[in-house]
Amino acid sequence: MPSKPLYKRALLKVSGEALMGNQQYGIDVETVDRIAREIKQATDIGCEICLVIGGGNIFRGLSGAAKGMERASADYMGMLATVMNALAMQNSLERMGVQTRVMSAIPMTTIAEPYIRRRAVRHMEKGRVVIFAAGTGNPFFTTDTAAALRATEMGCDALMKGTQVDGVYSADPHKVKDATRYERLTYMDVLARDLQVMDTSAIALARENNIPIIVFSIHDDGGFVNVLTGNGRCTIIENAAA
Ligand code: UDP
Repeated sequence: MPSKPLYKRALLKVSGEALMGNQQYGIDVETVDRIAREIKQATDIGCEICLVIGGGNIFRGLSGAAKGMERASADYMGMLATVMNALAMQNSLERMGVQTRVMSAIPMTTIAEPYIRRRAVRHMEKGRVVIFAAGTGNPFFTTDTAAALRATEMGCDALMKGTQVDGVYSADPHKVKDATRYERLTYMDVLARDLQVMDTSAIALARENNIPIIVFSIHDDGGFVNVLTGNGRCTIIENAAA
């Protein structure tokens, strides 16, 4: 039996790219299933989990804008991409017997509930995994910011950022051999050293609301539960101890 969770309620942010598996684009169902299993394990130990999934595996507003599209339209397309990912994740989780609700920041009531904060809180209290789709619903934002915003609104104890590596490194560990992993950082360290963890508005929001950001690898089996119980490899970003 794994140890008790350190965080009762947590928001997990995964980028769209994490769902691609070995593909160059789109959704790899096996990979989505693998991440869904990680989430199921977390609910099995009694954590209340909500999710924000990016859309970069399908469409990114900035790349559309770079090719001449109006930025706001391109961003709306990016937000729609996150809805597809949310539905894929909902499907995987429900196949595993996990109760879920998708709530979209852009109303599309045929496929998802509209985002209503108090309703989302209620779903979480009932043990449902809430998947927040369509980011913040506003162009010129990212799903990182949506993750920090929803984590704040839900009163989460932690914002878990599942990435390709097991924490924040001094340099890209895939490229620099002696890059070192930080155990702990402050929000200010991340902002001042421009460490590429999440975008600056997400870091600022987490800092203002005192929500620790835990950066860990979403690709290690059992990694999510390990970090939730304080046993995993990760970097913890929080305010400096008083
Ligand atoms: N997006 C947006 N507002 C939001 C969240 C996302 O406009 O609140 C758009 C933006 O174009 C972004 C795309 O949706 O590029 C996909 O999200 P993101 O790039 O954050 O996904 P990730 O990099 O995490 O896969």
